Amino acid sequence: MGYDLKTKERRYCLECGEPLDYGDRSDKKFCSCGCRNSYHNKSHHNGRVIKHRVNAALERNHDVLGKLLRMGVTAMSLVDLAQMGFKPEYITSFIKRGTRTECHCYDMRYYMTPTRIFSLERSYLL
Ligand SMILES: [Zn+2]
Repeated sequence: MGYDLKTKERRYCLECGEPLDYGDRSDKKFCSCGCRNSYHNKSHHNGRVIKHRVNAALERNHDVLGKLLRMGVTAMSLVDLAQMGFKPEYITSFIKRGTRTECHCYDMRYYMTPTRIFSLERSYLL
């Protein structure tokens, strides 16, 4: 019992997993400056990966919407859009208009329901 309690209280370096000394400040998270640095370098790296992924998804969405407009299509189901690589959760902004949600992907503008988008148009006045 006492052992379990001690294990719970014991904290470990977020980078290398080494136990931190009991006497250390309670907010200490790393065993050394080296570990702190490599942990933060990695999380910056992760931030870049995430930004790259989001940007790629937005560009993909923009490409898909542009393709639709070139074909004269202004409404499509989310199922069909997904097959073209469109991910509805990636938008650059949205605005509530009454009960409708107007979504923007850069200069593209459309309304979205849980099942489809409609009134797709290119807008130069965002
Ligand atoms: Zn460490």
